[in-house]
Amino acid sequence: MLAASEHWTYEHFLDQVLSDQEQQADERSREALLRFASFPYKKTIQDFDFAFQNSISPQVIAELAECAFIRQHQNIVFLGPPGTGKTHLAIALGIEATKRRLKVRFTTCTDLITRLKEAKERNTYQRRLAAYTGPSLLIIDEVGFNPLKSDETVLLFDVICKRYERGSVILTANKSYTDWAEIFSGDAVIATALLDRLLHHSQSFVLKGESYRMKEFMENKI
Ligand code: ADP
Ligand code: MG
Repeated sequence: MLAASEHWTYEHFLDQVLSDQEQQADERSREALLRFASFPYKKTIQDFDFAFQNSISPQVIAELAECAFIRQHQNIVFLGPPGTGKTHLAIALGIEATKRRLKVRFTTCTDLITRLKEAKERNTYQRRLAAYTGPSLLIIDEVGFNPLKSDETVLLFDVICKRYERGSVILTANKSYTDWAEIFSGDAVIATALLDRLLHHSQSFVLKGESYRMKEFMENKI
């Protein structure tokens, strides 16, 4: 045993055991935060190729990774065509937040709406809503893949409204703002109120270029 061979004092031994335990508890709480976040895959900032995706600078992402935007209850919006790294960057920032002990939750927009609808039917709406409003950072991925009906826009509005100035949202969408009317064609009034709150304290990034998925696909073919 290390303690015996190194002639540790009892105090030193106790110190070491306690700090090992703290480290393990720390590790466990980080794992719990990662599980709770429900990321669809785990990709980090280090995994991101900024040479391929040059519409966003590594410095900007490094600064966001400090998570000040979460403490200041600001939102981030990643816009761009499929495969340009929107979900990757959202997850990478989410992972950085869990490292800083912040509670994160990842969901697709479709899943959020489906679950809130189900919860309404089961009379568990408030509890389900709290699952989306409680975490310090909520990532809503793939907004606008399917246009939202009026009742669906109201559900998303409820989440954004409850988080407004109380928590952060990272949202990804493959439509530019000029095309957002299509996403919320169901209810222009609610849509305007939603965007008003979402964009009030926010930073938007438009990712351009080719799909990374397609690049990998083509490379494998050659
Ligand atoms: P989308 O913009 O459609 O959300 P994703 O972020 O899911 O795209 O990216 C699709 C796949 O390509 C993922 O596996 C992601 O990790 C990878 N990827 C995308 N952009 C980059 C990049 N610049 N560097 C490294 N991997 C990338
Ligand atoms: Mg995506």
